[in-house]
Amino acid sequence: MKKQVLILLLNVVLTGTLCAQKTVDLNTLHSISSNELMEFATELSSAKYEGRLSGTPEYLEAARWCASKFEEWGVKPANNGSYFQYFPNEYSEVNLLGSMVYFNGKEKIYLDFPEDYLPGSNSASGTVQAPLVYVGHGITAPELGYDDYENVDVEGKIIILESGTPYTKNDETLAKWTPYAYHRYKFRNAVKHGAAGMIYASKLANPNTVNLEGFVYAHVDIKVVTQIMADAGKDYQQIRQQLKNMETPSFELPAEQQVFIRAETKYFPDAQACNVVGMIEGSDPDLKDEVIIIGGHLDGQGQMGDVMFPSALDNASGISDILGAAKALANSEVKPKRSVLFILIGGEECGLYGSEYYCKNPLFPIEKTKMMINLDMVGNGTGFFVSGGKTHSALFGHFENANNYYIHREMGTSAVSKNYGRPRSDASHFENVGIKTFGLWTRNSVYPVHYHMPADKTNVLTPEIMEDAAKLLYLGVLGVANDSKL
Ligand SMILES: [Zn+2]
Repeated sequence: MKKQVLILLLNVVLTGTLCAQKTVDLNTLHSISSNELMEFATELSSAKYEGRLSGTPEYLEAARWCASKFEEWGVKPANNGSYFQYFPNEYSEVNLLGSMVYFNGKEKIYLDFPEDYLPGSNSASGTVQAPLVYVGHGITAPELGYDDYENVDVEGKIIILESGTPYTKNDETLAKWTPYAYHRYKFRNAVKHGAAGMIYASKLANPNTVNLEGFVYAHVDIKVVTQIMADAGKDYQQIRQQLKNMETPSFELPAEQQVFIRAETKYFPDAQACNVVGMIEGSDPDLKDEVIIIGGHLDGQGQMGDVMFPSALDNASGISDILGAAKALANSEVKPKRSVLFILIGGEECGLYGSEYYCKNPLFPIEKTKMMINLDMVGNGTGFFVSGGKTHSALFGHFENANNYYIHREMGTSAVSKNYGRPRSDASHFENVGIKTFGLWTRNSVYPVHYHMPADKTNVLTPEIMEDAAKLLYLGVLGVANDSKL
Protein backbone atom coordinates (compact mmCIF):
# COMPACT_ATOMS: atom_id res chain seq x y z
CA MET A 1 0.00 0.00 0.00
CA LYS A 2 2.71 2.42 1.05
CA LYS A 3 4.64 1.51 -2.09
CA GLN A 4 1.62 2.27 -4.31
CA VAL A 5 1.13 5.67 -2.71
CA LEU A 6 4.77 6.42 -3.25
CA ILE A 7 4.56 5.47 -6.93
CA LEU A 8 1.40 7.55 -7.29
CA LEU A 9 3.11 10.52 -5.66
CA LEU A 10 6.15 10.09 -7.85
CA ASN A 11 3.91 10.01 -10.93
CA VAL A 12 2.18 13.18 -9.89
CA VAL A 13 5.51 14.90 -9.33
CA LEU A 14 6.97 13.71 -12.64
CA THR A 15 3.88 14.41 -14.73
CA GLY A 16 3.54 17.76 -13.01
CA THR A 17 7.12 18.67 -13.85
CA LEU A 18 6.74 17.59 -17.49
CA CYS A 19 3.45 19.45 -17.92
CA ALA A 20 4.82 22.59 -16.31
CA GLN A 21 7.79 22.60 -18.67
CA LYS A 22 5.86 21.45 -21.76
CA THR A 23 9.12 21.00 -23.58
CA VAL A 24 8.08 18.65 -26.32
CA ASP A 25 5.39 18.62 -28.98
CA LEU A 26 5.12 14.92 -29.78
CA ASN A 27 2.92 15.41 -32.85
CA THR A 28 5.56 17.56 -34.48
CA LEU A 29 8.32 15.20 -33.39
CA HIS A 30 6.57 12.26 -35.03
CA SER A 31 5.76 14.25 -38.17
CA ILE A 32 9.48 14.04 -39.07
CA SER A 33 9.56 11.17 -41.53
CA SER A 34 12.37 9.29 -43.21
CA ASN A 35 10.34 9.26 -46.43
CA GLU A 36 10.26 13.02 -46.64
CA LEU A 37 13.96 13.36 -45.76
CA MET A 38 14.81 10.88 -48.52
CA GLU A 39 12.72 12.96 -50.94
CA PHE A 40 14.84 16.01 -50.04
CA ALA A 41 18.08 14.04 -50.48
CA THR A 42 16.88 12.61 -53.81
CA GLU A 43 15.96 16.08 -55.07
CA LEU A 44 19.35 17.56 -54.10
CA SER A 45 21.25 14.61 -55.61
CA SER A 46 19.28 14.69 -58.86
CA ALA A 47 20.75 15.34 -62.32
CA LYS A 48 19.36 18.88 -62.65
CA TYR A 49 21.76 20.19 -59.97
CA GLU A 50 24.76 18.41 -61.52
CA GLY A 51 26.38 17.60 -58.18
CA ARG A 52 26.01 21.17 -56.76
CA LEU A 53 29.50 22.47 -57.48
CA SER A 54 29.68 25.79 -55.63
CA GLY A 55 29.55 28.80 -57.96
CA THR A 56 27.81 27.00 -60.85
CA PRO A 57 24.30 27.95 -62.05
CA GLU A 58 23.19 24.47 -60.94
CA TYR A 59 24.41 25.12 -57.39
CA LEU A 60 22.47 28.39 -57.31
CA GLU A 61 19.41 26.51 -58.57
CA ALA A 62 19.71 24.03 -55.67
CA ALA A 63 20.06 26.99 -53.29
CA ARG A 64 16.82 28.48 -54.68
CA TRP A 65 15.04 25.14 -54.21
CA CYS A 66 16.06 25.07 -50.52
CA ALA A 67 14.92 28.67 -50.07
CA SER A 68 11.55 27.78 -51.62
CA LYS A 69 11.12 25.09 -48.94
CA PHE A 70 11.96 27.61 -46.21
CA GLU A 71 9.36 29.97 -47.66
CA GLU A 72 6.75 27.20 -47.87
CA TRP A 73 7.21 26.40 -44.15
CA GLY A 74 7.32 29.99 -42.91
CA VAL A 75 11.05 30.03 -42.20
CA LYS A 76 11.89 33.71 -42.80
CA PRO A 77 14.67 35.15 -44.98
CA ALA A 78 17.54 36.09 -42.66
CA ASN A 79 19.56 38.54 -44.79
CA ASN A 80 17.57 41.81 -44.99
CA GLY A 81 14.62 40.14 -46.67
CA SER A 82 16.73 37.73 -48.73
CA TYR A 83 17.41 34.03 -48.28
CA PHE A 84 20.82 34.42 -49.91
CA GLN A 85 24.19 35.64 -48.71
CA TYR A 86 26.46 35.89 -51.76
CA PHE A 87 30.26 35.66 -51.86
CA PRO A 88 32.95 35.31 -54.56
CA ASN A 89 33.56 31.69 -55.60
CA GLU A 90 35.82 31.00 -58.57
CA TYR A 91 35.50 27.49 -59.97
CA SER A 92 36.39 25.34 -62.99
CA GLU A 93 34.01 23.18 -64.97
CA VAL A 94 35.43 19.84 -66.13
CA ASN A 95 33.94 19.48 -69.64
CA LEU A 96 35.46 16.13 -70.58
CA LEU A 97 36.82 13.21 -68.62
CA GLY A 98 39.96 13.63 -70.72
CA SER A 99 42.45 10.82 -70.89
CA MET A 100 45.56 9.52 -69.26
CA VAL A 101 48.18 7.20 -70.71
CA TYR A 102 51.25 5.77 -69.00
CA PHE A 103 54.29 4.67 -71.04
CA ASN A 104 56.31 2.23 -68.97
CA GLY A 105 59.22 2.27 -71.46
CA LYS A 106 57.90 -0.71 -73.44
CA GLU A 107 54.16 -0.21 -73.94
CA LYS A 108 51.29 2.26 -73.58
CA ILE A 109 48.90 1.66 -70.70
CA TYR A 110 45.55 3.46 -71.00
CA LEU A 111 44.21 4.42 -67.58
CA ASP A 112 40.50 4.13 -66.79
CA PHE A 113 38.15 6.66 -65.21
CA PRO A 114 37.28 6.51 -62.33
CA GLU A 115 39.18 3.34 -61.29
CA ASP A 116 42.67 4.63 -62.12
CA TYR A 117 42.37 8.40 -62.42
CA LEU A 118 40.11 11.42 -61.96
CA PRO A 119 40.53 14.66 -63.95
CA GLY A 120 41.91 17.57 -61.93
CA SER A 121 38.95 19.71 -60.82
CA ASN A 122 40.94 22.89 -61.53
CA SER A 123 43.27 21.63 -64.25
CA ALA A 124 44.04 23.91 -67.18
CA SER A 125 42.83 22.74 -70.62
CA GLY A 126 45.27 21.06 -72.93
CA THR A 127 47.66 18.15 -73.12
CA VAL A 128 50.98 17.40 -71.53
CA GLN A 129 53.42 14.55 -72.05
CA ALA A 130 56.74 14.33 -70.25
CA PRO A 131 59.02 12.19 -68.10
CA LEU A 132 58.30 12.04 -64.38
CA VAL A 133 59.85 13.42 -61.21
CA TYR A 134 58.75 12.30 -57.76
CA VAL A 135 58.69 15.34 -55.41
CA GLY A 136 57.11 13.89 -52.25
CA HIS A 137 54.98 16.56 -50.55
CA GLY A 138 56.25 19.26 -52.93
CA ILE A 139 57.20 21.63 -50.10
CA THR A 140 59.96 24.25 -50.05
CA ALA A 141 60.29 25.54 -46.46
CA PRO A 142 63.74 27.08 -45.87
CA GLU A 143 62.89 28.12 -42.28
CA LEU A 144 62.12 24.47 -41.52
CA GLY A 145 65.26 23.27 -43.32
CA TYR A 146 63.12 21.28 -45.74
CA ASP A 147 62.97 21.25 -49.57
CA ASP A 148 61.41 18.47 -51.65
CA TYR A 149 62.82 20.12 -54.82
CA GLU A 150 66.41 20.42 -53.59
CA ASN A 151 68.06 17.65 -55.60
CA VAL A 152 65.76 17.33 -58.61
CA ASP A 153 65.14 19.24 -61.84
CA VAL A 154 61.42 19.39 -62.66
CA GLU A 155 61.65 21.88 -65.55
CA GLY A 156 59.25 20.69 -68.29
CA LYS A 157 58.52 17.47 -66.38
CA ILE A 158 55.40 15.96 -64.84
CA ILE A 159 55.70 15.78 -61.08
CA ILE A 160 54.24 13.09 -58.84
CA LEU A 161 52.95 14.87 -55.73
CA GLU A 162 51.67 13.74 -52.32
CA SER A 163 49.06 15.61 -50.29
CA GLY A 164 49.69 16.71 -46.69
CA THR A 165 52.91 17.43 -44.82
CA PRO A 166 55.65 15.07 -43.54
CA TYR A 167 54.99 16.29 -39.98
CA THR A 168 51.56 15.08 -38.83
CA LYS A 169 51.47 15.26 -35.01
CA ASN A 170 48.80 17.78 -33.87
CA ASP A 171 50.95 20.16 -31.82
CA GLU A 172 52.56 23.61 -32.12
CA THR A 173 55.20 22.34 -34.54
CA LEU A 174 52.45 21.31 -36.95
CA ALA A 175 51.30 24.95 -37.08
CA LYS A 176 54.63 25.83 -38.75
CA TRP A 177 53.94 23.24 -41.47
CA THR A 178 50.28 24.14 -42.00
CA PRO A 179 50.83 26.94 -44.59
CA TYR A 180 52.48 24.25 -46.74
CA ALA A 181 49.58 21.80 -46.40
CA TYR A 182 47.33 23.68 -48.83
CA HIS A 183 46.86 22.24 -52.33
CA ARG A 184 47.06 25.80 -53.69
CA TYR A 185 50.51 26.33 -52.20
CA LYS A 186 51.77 23.02 -53.57
CA PHE A 187 50.47 23.73 -57.09
CA ARG A 188 52.00 27.22 -57.15
CA ASN A 189 55.29 25.88 -55.84
CA ALA A 190 55.33 23.24 -58.60
CA VAL A 191 54.74 25.86 -61.30
CA LYS A 192 57.39 28.12 -59.72
CA HIS A 193 59.89 25.28 -60.13
CA GLY A 194 58.93 24.90 -63.81
CA ALA A 195 56.84 21.72 -63.70
CA ALA A 196 54.79 21.20 -66.87
CA GLY A 197 52.11 19.01 -65.31
CA MET A 198 51.27 16.88 -62.34
CA ILE A 199 49.80 13.64 -61.12
CA TYR A 200 48.39 13.92 -57.61
CA ALA A 201 48.81 10.71 -55.63
CA SER A 202 45.33 10.75 -54.12
CA LYS A 203 42.28 9.83 -56.15
CA LEU A 204 39.58 12.21 -54.91
CA ALA A 205 37.48 14.77 -56.73
CA ASN A 206 38.79 17.95 -55.16
CA PRO A 207 37.59 21.44 -56.12
CA ASN A 208 39.75 22.82 -53.30
CA THR A 209 42.78 23.52 -55.52
CA VAL A 210 43.75 26.33 -57.88
CA ASN A 211 43.52 26.89 -61.64
CA LEU A 212 46.95 27.88 -62.98
CA GLU A 213 47.45 28.83 -66.61
CA GLY A 214 48.78 25.91 -68.68
CA PHE A 215 49.15 23.60 -65.66
CA VAL A 216 47.48 20.28 -66.56
CA TYR A 217 46.99 17.66 -63.87
CA ALA A 218 45.01 14.60 -62.82
CA HIS A 219 44.49 12.55 -59.67
CA VAL A 220 45.70 8.95 -59.76
CA ASP A 221 45.00 5.90 -57.70
CA ILE A 222 47.72 4.72 -55.33
CA LYS A 223 48.00 1.40 -57.21
CA VAL A 224 49.05 3.31 -60.35
CA VAL A 225 51.72 5.22 -58.41
CA THR A 226 52.93 1.95 -56.88
CA GLN A 227 53.26 0.46 -60.40
CA ILE A 228 55.11 3.50 -61.77
CA MET A 229 57.52 3.34 -58.83
CA ALA A 230 58.05 -0.40 -59.25
CA ASP A 231 58.84 0.13 -62.95
CA ALA A 232 61.50 2.63 -61.83
CA GLY A 233 62.91 -0.02 -59.48
CA LYS A 234 61.55 1.66 -56.35
CA ASP A 235 59.47 0.38 -53.45
CA TYR A 236 56.63 2.86 -52.88
CA GLN A 237 56.00 1.69 -49.31
CA GLN A 238 59.63 2.39 -48.49
CA ILE A 239 59.41 5.85 -50.08
CA ARG A 240 56.33 6.63 -47.97
CA GLN A 241 58.28 5.64 -44.89
CA GLN A 242 61.17 7.92 -45.91
CA LEU A 243 58.66 10.79 -46.22
CA LYS A 244 57.50 10.16 -42.65
CA ASN A 245 61.14 10.27 -41.55
CA MET A 246 61.46 13.67 -43.35
CA GLU A 247 64.13 12.33 -45.65
CA THR A 248 62.85 14.11 -48.84
CA PRO A 249 63.19 11.03 -51.08
CA SER A 250 62.62 13.03 -54.33
CA PHE A 251 64.09 11.57 -57.54
CA GLU A 252 63.88 11.78 -61.32
CA LEU A 253 62.43 8.66 -62.95
CA PRO A 254 64.05 7.08 -66.05
CA ALA A 255 63.32 9.26 -69.11
CA GLU A 256 61.55 6.43 -70.98
CA GLN A 257 58.84 6.35 -68.29
CA GLN A 258 56.34 9.03 -69.35
CA VAL A 259 52.77 10.09 -68.77
CA PHE A 260 50.31 11.77 -71.15
CA ILE A 261 47.38 13.77 -69.75
CA ARG A 262 44.58 15.45 -71.70
CA ALA A 263 42.19 17.79 -69.86
CA GLU A 264 39.36 20.03 -70.99
CA THR A 265 38.01 22.52 -68.50
CA LYS A 266 36.54 26.01 -68.38
CA TYR A 267 37.61 28.42 -65.67
CA PHE A 268 35.15 30.94 -64.16
CA PRO A 269 37.29 33.34 -62.11
CA ASP A 270 34.50 35.81 -61.29
CA ALA A 271 31.72 33.44 -60.21
CA GLN A 272 29.62 33.88 -57.09
CA ALA A 273 28.03 31.35 -54.77
CA CYS A 274 25.83 31.84 -51.71
CA ASN A 275 24.85 30.61 -48.29
CA VAL A 276 21.10 30.03 -47.92
CA VAL A 277 19.99 31.73 -44.71
CA GLY A 278 16.59 31.21 -43.08
CA MET A 279 15.40 31.95 -39.56
CA ILE A 280 12.73 31.32 -37.01
CA GLU A 281 12.44 34.33 -34.75
CA GLY A 282 12.42 33.56 -31.02
CA SER A 283 9.07 33.85 -29.21
CA ASP A 284 10.47 35.48 -26.08
CA PRO A 285 10.89 39.29 -26.25
CA ASP A 286 14.08 39.20 -24.15
CA LEU A 287 15.69 36.02 -25.49
CA LYS A 288 14.93 36.42 -29.20
CA ASP A 289 18.07 38.51 -29.72
CA GLU A 290 20.08 35.38 -28.97
CA VAL A 291 20.54 32.93 -31.81
CA ILE A 292 21.29 29.25 -32.32
CA ILE A 293 22.79 28.27 -35.67
CA ILE A 294 22.17 24.99 -37.48
CA GLY A 295 24.50 24.67 -40.47
CA GLY A 296 25.81 22.24 -43.06
CA HIS A 297 27.31 22.52 -46.53
CA LEU A 298 25.01 22.44 -49.51
CA ASP A 299 27.70 22.19 -52.19
CA GLY A 300 29.17 19.00 -53.62
CA GLN A 301 31.74 17.76 -56.11
CA GLY A 302 29.86 18.74 -59.26
CA GLN A 303 30.16 16.91 -62.55
CA MET A 304 33.03 15.74 -64.77
CA GLY A 305 32.14 15.36 -68.43
CA ASP A 306 28.79 13.57 -68.27
CA VAL A 307 29.56 11.83 -64.97
CA MET A 308 27.85 13.37 -61.98
CA PHE A 309 29.13 13.23 -58.41
CA PRO A 310 25.74 13.29 -56.62
CA SER A 311 27.39 14.06 -53.26
CA ALA A 312 24.47 12.36 -51.51
CA LEU A 313 26.05 11.43 -48.19
CA ASP A 314 28.46 14.38 -48.46
CA ASN A 315 26.33 16.38 -47.86
CA ALA A 316 22.78 16.15 -49.28
CA SER A 317 22.16 14.01 -46.19
CA GLY A 318 23.08 16.76 -43.73
CA ILE A 319 21.06 19.39 -45.63
CA SER A 320 18.02 17.07 -45.71
CA ASP A 321 18.29 16.55 -41.94
CA ILE A 322 18.44 20.33 -41.45
CA LEU A 323 15.42 20.88 -43.72
CA GLY A 324 13.50 18.26 -41.71
CA ALA A 325 14.36 20.00 -38.45
CA ALA A 326 13.55 23.43 -39.93
CA LYS A 327 10.09 22.29 -40.99
CA ALA A 328 9.45 20.77 -37.54
CA LEU A 329 10.69 23.85 -35.67
CA ALA A 330 8.53 26.08 -37.88
CA ASN A 331 5.43 23.94 -37.19
CA SER A 332 6.14 23.24 -33.54
CA GLU A 333 3.52 24.13 -30.93
CA VAL A 334 6.35 24.51 -28.44
CA LYS A 335 8.03 27.62 -29.85
CA PRO A 336 11.74 28.34 -29.51
CA LYS A 337 12.27 31.33 -27.18
CA ARG A 338 15.65 32.12 -28.72
CA SER A 339 15.95 32.60 -32.48
CA VAL A 340 17.13 29.77 -34.71
CA LEU A 341 19.20 30.50 -37.83
CA PHE A 342 19.66 27.91 -40.58
CA ILE A 343 22.73 28.31 -42.81
CA LEU A 344 23.02 26.03 -45.83
CA ILE A 345 26.65 26.75 -46.54
CA GLY A 346 28.26 27.18 -49.97
CA GLY A 347 31.86 26.76 -51.09
CA GLU A 348 32.84 24.19 -48.45
CA GLU A 349 34.43 21.82 -50.95
CA CYS A 350 36.28 24.73 -52.61
CA GLY A 351 37.98 25.70 -49.34
CA LEU A 352 35.37 26.58 -46.67
CA TYR A 353 34.45 29.83 -48.49
CA GLY A 354 30.85 30.14 -47.23
CA SER A 355 31.54 29.59 -43.53
CA GLU A 356 34.54 31.93 -43.67
CA TYR A 357 32.37 34.58 -45.34
CA TYR A 358 29.58 34.22 -42.78
CA CYS A 359 31.99 34.51 -39.84
CA LYS A 360 33.47 37.70 -41.34
CA ASN A 361 30.01 39.04 -42.18
CA PRO A 362 27.72 37.58 -39.50
CA LEU A 363 23.99 38.33 -39.77
CA PHE A 364 23.67 38.27 -35.97
CA PRO A 365 26.26 39.45 -33.45
CA ILE A 366 28.79 36.71 -32.68
CA GLU A 367 28.47 37.42 -28.92
CA LYS A 368 24.71 36.77 -29.13
CA THR A 369 25.23 33.48 -30.95
CA LYS A 370 24.75 30.83 -28.25
CA MET A 371 25.94 27.87 -30.30
CA MET A 372 26.39 26.42 -33.78
CA ILE A 373 25.88 22.80 -34.78
CA ASN A 374 27.40 21.70 -38.10
CA LEU A 375 26.13 18.64 -39.96
CA ASP A 376 28.43 16.90 -42.42
CA MET A 377 27.77 13.38 -43.71
CA VAL A 378 24.85 12.59 -41.40
CA GLY A 379 23.06 9.79 -43.23
CA ASN A 380 24.86 6.45 -43.28
CA GLY A 381 25.20 4.44 -40.09
CA THR A 382 23.57 3.35 -36.87
CA GLY A 383 25.16 5.79 -34.41
CA PHE A 384 25.88 9.49 -33.93
CA PHE A 385 29.03 11.35 -33.04
CA VAL A 386 28.91 14.91 -31.70
CA SER A 387 32.27 16.62 -31.37
CA GLY A 388 32.53 19.28 -28.66
CA GLY A 389 29.98 17.75 -26.27
CA LYS A 390 32.44 17.22 -23.44
CA THR A 391 33.53 20.86 -23.54
CA HIS A 392 30.10 22.47 -23.92
CA SER A 393 28.31 20.09 -21.60
CA ALA A 394 25.41 22.37 -20.55
CA LEU A 395 24.39 22.79 -24.19
CA PHE A 396 25.14 19.20 -25.10
CA GLY A 397 22.92 17.95 -22.24
CA HIS A 398 19.86 18.90 -24.31
CA PHE A 399 21.01 16.65 -27.17
CA GLU A 400 21.88 13.85 -24.76
CA ASN A 401 18.44 14.06 -23.14
CA ALA A 402 16.77 14.04 -26.56
CA ASN A 403 18.71 10.92 -27.45
CA ASN A 404 18.14 9.18 -24.13
CA TYR A 405 14.37 9.81 -23.97
CA TYR A 406 13.25 9.65 -27.59
CA ILE A 407 15.89 8.37 -29.99
CA HIS A 408 18.03 5.75 -28.23
CA ARG A 409 20.99 5.68 -30.61
CA GLU A 410 24.57 5.07 -29.65
CA MET A 411 26.04 8.61 -29.43
CA GLY A 412 29.71 9.37 -28.89
CA THR A 413 31.19 12.74 -28.05
CA SER A 414 34.53 14.44 -27.49
CA ALA A 415 36.08 17.57 -26.05
CA VAL A 416 37.05 20.51 -28.26
CA SER A 417 40.71 20.12 -29.12
CA LYS A 418 42.81 22.77 -30.80
CA ASN A 419 43.60 21.89 -34.40
CA TYR A 420 47.05 23.04 -35.52
CA GLY A 421 46.58 21.68 -39.03
CA ARG A 422 44.65 22.86 -42.08
CA PRO A 423 40.98 23.52 -41.16
CA ARG A 424 38.89 20.80 -42.77
CA SER A 425 35.35 21.64 -41.68
CA ASP A 426 32.97 24.61 -41.70
CA ALA A 427 32.76 24.23 -37.93
CA SER A 428 36.34 25.50 -37.57
CA HIS A 429 35.51 29.03 -38.76
CA PHE A 430 32.65 29.32 -36.25
CA GLU A 431 34.86 27.92 -33.50
CA ASN A 432 37.67 30.33 -34.38
CA VAL A 433 35.46 33.41 -33.87
CA GLY A 434 34.51 32.11 -30.42
CA ILE A 435 31.15 30.42 -31.02
CA LYS A 436 30.51 27.20 -29.08
CA THR A 437 30.42 24.70 -31.91
CA PHE A 438 29.38 21.09 -32.32
CA GLY A 439 30.06 18.83 -35.28
CA LEU A 440 27.46 16.11 -35.92
CA TRP A 441 28.04 13.06 -38.11
CA THR A 442 26.91 9.46 -38.31
CA ARG A 443 29.11 6.46 -37.59
CA ASN A 444 29.05 2.65 -37.88
CA SER A 445 28.39 2.88 -41.63
CA VAL A 446 25.77 0.50 -42.98
CA TYR A 447 26.85 0.99 -46.62
CA PRO A 448 30.30 1.67 -48.13
CA VAL A 449 31.30 5.36 -48.03
CA HIS A 450 32.22 6.56 -51.54
CA TYR A 451 33.89 9.76 -50.38
CA HIS A 452 34.14 12.33 -53.23
CA MET A 453 33.42 9.68 -55.85
CA PRO A 454 30.61 9.25 -58.46
CA ALA A 455 29.17 6.37 -56.39
CA ASP A 456 28.14 8.71 -53.51
CA LYS A 457 24.47 8.23 -54.47
CA THR A 458 21.26 8.17 -52.42
CA ASN A 459 21.35 4.35 -52.33
CA VAL A 460 24.10 4.61 -49.70
CA LEU A 461 21.86 6.55 -47.31
CA THR A 462 20.16 4.97 -44.28
CA PRO A 463 16.78 6.77 -44.07
CA GLU A 464 16.17 5.75 -40.44
CA ILE A 465 19.21 7.54 -39.09
CA MET A 466 18.40 10.64 -41.13
CA GLU A 467 14.98 10.73 -39.48
CA ASP A 468 16.63 10.38 -36.08
CA ALA A 469 19.18 13.09 -36.88
CA ALA A 470 16.38 15.53 -37.74
CA LYS A 471 14.59 14.56 -34.50
CA LEU A 472 17.78 15.02 -32.52
CA LEU A 473 18.18 18.51 -34.02
CA TYR A 474 14.55 19.43 -33.41
CA LEU A 475 14.58 18.34 -29.76
CA GLY A 476 18.13 19.40 -28.92
CA VAL A 477 17.87 22.86 -30.48
CA LEU A 478 14.46 23.45 -28.89
CA GLY A 479 15.96 22.45 -25.54
CA VAL A 480 18.80 24.94 -25.90
CA ALA A 481 16.49 27.66 -27.26
CA ASN A 482 14.23 27.40 -24.20
CA ASP A 483 16.81 26.83 -21.46
CA SER A 484 16.40 29.72 -19.00
CA LYS A 485 19.64 28.79 -17.19
CA LEU A 486 22.01 29.47 -20.09
ZN1 LIG B 1 31.32 17.32 -46.50
